[in-house]
Formats: sequence, C-alpha cells, structure tokens
Amino acid sequence: NLTSRLSRVLDSIRGQGRLTEEQINTAARELRMALLEADVALPVVKRFVEEVKRKALGAEITQSLTPGQEFLRIVQRELTATLGGKAEPLNLRQQPPAVILMAGLQGSGKTTTTGKLARLLKEHEKKKVMLVSCDVYRPAAIEQLLILAGQVGVEVYPSAVGQDPVAIASAALAEAKKQYADVLIVDTAGRTTVDEEMMREIAALHAAVKPVETLFVVDSMTGQDAAKTARAFADRVPLTGVVLTKVDGDARGGAALSVREVTGAPIKFLGVGEKSDKLEVFHPDRIASRILGQGDVMTLIEETVRKVDHDKAAKLADKLKKTKRFDLEDFREQMLQMQNMGSMAALLDKLPGGAQLQAQLRNVDADKQVRRAVAIINSMTPHERRFPDVIKASRKRRIAAGSGVEVQEVNKLLRQFDTTREMMKKVASGGMGKLMRAMGG
Ligand code: GDP
Ligand code: MG
Repeated sequence: NLTSRLSRVLDSIRGQGRLTEEQINTAARELRMALLEADVALPVVKRFVEEVKRKALGAEITQSLTPGQEFLRIVQRELTATLGGKAEPLNLRQQPPAVILMAGLQGSGKTTTTGKLARLLKEHEKKKVMLVSCDVYRPAAIEQLLILAGQVGVEVYPSAVGQDPVAIASAALAEAKKQYADVLIVDTAGRTTVDEEMMREIAALHAAVKPVETLFVVDSMTGQDAAKTARAFADRVPLTGVVLTKVDGDARGGAALSVREVTGAPIKFLGVGEKSDKLEVFHPDRIASRILGQGDVMTLIEETVRKVDHDKAAKLADKLKKTKRFDLEDFREQMLQMQNMGSMAALLDKLPGGAQLQAQLRNVDADKQVRRAVAIINSMTPHERRFPDVIKASRKRRIAAGSGVEVQEVNKLLRQFDTTREMMKKVASGGMGKLMRAMGG
C-alpha cells in the first residue's frame, strides 16, 4: 500500500528543520508511482503531486514528527481536502416530492443503490419514498427494482418494457405528488459504454423531472475508466453527487480521487456490498486513510486489542470444511491473523515475564514478512487469488512490480502458499482447535 511504499523512502529522510527539496522530490516520485498503482487517473496524480510538493516545501517539521512522517501528514491532509474535506449529505430540502435521478453505466450499481437509498431514507429519515424504473430495455431490470422495493417496503410506480422513459418518469412524478411522497427515486437504464443515445436519454429525463439530486453511480473497481465515464456524464447533466459502489471488493481507492476531481461533485455514499443495508456515508478522511493504507493499520491495532478474531477464524474453518479449498485470499487472511498475534508482543511487554516471550517473537520479524506478503497478494487480481495456478512468469513480473518486490519474493510467497495449502488440506478434516494451533495459536 501507499504507506509502506512511502515509508521505505521516507525512512531514509533524516535531518532537522525543513524537508529539503531533494528529499521532497524523492518522496514525490514515490507518491506519484503509488497513486498510479492505486488507479488514480494521470492528470489527477500530476496536479495532486504538485500540490503536495508545494505544501511540503514550505512546511516546518513539527517537533514530534520525523521529516518522513511530516511528509505523510501533508499527503494525508491533501488527500482529505481533495476528496472534499467533509461528508456531504443528500440535499432534499425542496417542495416534496424531491426527485433523485440515478445516472451511470450498466452494471455500475444504480438499481441496487436505488434500493439502498430507499431503505436509508425510509428507515433513518422516516421519508415516504416512491421508486420508478425507466430501464425500459430489459424486463429483468424492472423486475429487479420491484423485488428490491418489496424487500425494503416502498412503493414502485409501474413501468413496462417498450414505454417511453421520459413519459414514465413524468407520470411517476405526478403520482408521487398525488400520494404526498417525500422522495421519488428515478432509476435509469445504462449501457455498457458511454454512448450518445444514453446521454440524450439521461439529459431528457433530467429536463423532465428536474431532480434536486442527480447522483452519478460508478463502480470503483473500474479504476481509471471511472474518471472517463464521470467526465462524459458531467458534461451532459449537472451532477450533484457521486455514489462509489463495490468499495467492498478489490477497489484500491483511486477511483474516488479521480471521480471527485473530474466531476467536482462530492462523493456522498459508498456501496460496500450487495445487500440493501450496505450503503455508507462517505467520509473523505477515512477514504484518505484507506488510500494511504493507514486504515489497515488501524484495523490491525483494533484486532490486536481484541486479540484473536475468533469470528474470522471460525469462518475460515467453516469454509475449509465446506469447500476443502484454500486460496490466496484465505492465505492473506491467515497471515493477517498471525501478524495480529505477532503484534501482541507489544502487549506482552506489559505483563510480568512477558519480555522474554516478546524477545522470541521479535526474532521472527513476522510483521515485516506479513506486510510484504499481503502487499504481494494485494497486487494480484481476484482471479489470480482464487486460482493461484494461473500465476506464471509474466503475471509474476506484474505482481512483483505492483508490490515493489523482486520476482523471487513472489515465488517465495507462492511456495509458502503451496506448503500451507497442503497443511490446510490435512487440517480441514480436523476441528477448530487444530486449525487454531496450525495458525500459530
Ligand atoms: P445497474 O445496471 O447500474 O442498475 O447495476 P445493478 O444495481 O444491477 O448492480 C450490478 C451488480 O453489482 C449487481 O450484481 C449488484 O448486486 C452488484 N453491486 C451493486 N452495488 C454493489 C456494492 O456496493 N458491492 C458489491 N459487492 N456489489 C454491488
Ligand atoms: Mg439497473
């Protein structure tokens, strides 16, 4: 992640007073590489790095921080600012019904998010919500919205394949008024790529229903493409907010930065799962930490305090029993658990007799190894993690470059994985106790 990358450079930055220009340039180069790897679009990276350099040049180094930490702090602050500074709620202050128009490519998560928003507004804000599907090209899309609405318990204005989307939206708005609904959410069709017909349609819908919120829904896993799509939509309809979906998946956070910069619209929500309660209010500082990787550190600390996460261990055991499969995702999870126990060394120090135990644990230097292994696994695609056997020479080179290690390190990790997988196969037939012991407990 970004932090471990930067800290390698930053650790070499020593000295007092101000950061030197040379130090800043070195760190900035690393920052640029790391952002590109996190899938941030190039123009955004350029502007961002320039801004960080400018701030770093003038920065005094706080007594309690090293120059490296100071640089990281500037990056963190700048990231937060670029992401919008503070959370921006939905604006529904309007003569009801307030209309929310959902825009975005097919598969980005518009319909799912429509259901999630309906639930949020109904349950947390006690709003009367009505939904309408203007996706008149696929019967399944209309059906999908009906099912979601049924689960959430909100009304849907009926629509059918072949009808005119603008006519449906207008009729739905009239009905929402008649029923004194507070909010009408208009779900729209999307295509797999940006095209003129889709843009004309969303612009026409916008003109017809005059939404107070036009939310651009974008799949965070599309990385750099997210910025291009965002620009195409922002050029045609005034976006008031962005919903970044599938953040629970493999997203590296870069899309957030690009989309915010390109549209100028605040990111309002994150989709963090398929279920209707998996919608989070977007907090710029938290995502900044996630991009920097400090979020992971925080999580680890929390987990250390809770000692071993029995829940996860139990889930893993369960999965092993059911599938008898063990992939690199499981391996990563297991490594993090072990690191968890490694970091317990710090806690042990406070206990009587703990110092000796701690010295033993230090020998292993587990933390560093684990961090490296996790970085390597993070650089793989989900497919590679699930089917490690596809990882041949060229993939190894890409993974090595992505995680900033030599190819030998990738080989070493894969060998470790193989050994562990063999062991897990044997353990899978045993119970929890065996598993925990195998994990080092
Ligand atoms: P639409 O074509 O824009 O309406 O996209 P859908 O709402 O139909 O979503 C496409 C797919 O993405 C579906 O399988 C959803 O379950 C899934 N999806 C949507 N949002 C999320 C999310 O935040 N996390 C995950 N993991 N999946 C999501
Ligand atoms: Mg849809």
